Amino acid sequence: MSDQRKLRDIDDFINARDYEPAETRGRKIVVDKQIKICNQCKRAWESVNARNHPAGFTIYPLGMIPSYGKKKQTCPTCKRKQELK
Ligand SMILES: [Zn+2]
Repeated sequence: MSDQRKLRDIDDFINARDYEPAETRGRKIVVDKQIKICNQCKRAWESVNARNHPAGFTIYPLGMIPSYGKKKQTCPTCKRKQELK
């Protein structure tokens, strides 16, 4: 076995170990499903970890995320605007 091959095996092992916990797998699935399309501004948005994003959500620019198959839900920005009315 060459050293390069051995290194690749170690990388695979580290990657496999990193992705193995159920918690990570669950989060990856949830992240994809969390993306919603706002009924008002038509942008894609998702709830994110408030520890990394103080706002607690991320809004993607229009057209960046295909809306097909995504859940429709008013984004927090539009929701706040509605509440202020
Ligand atoms: Zn919106």
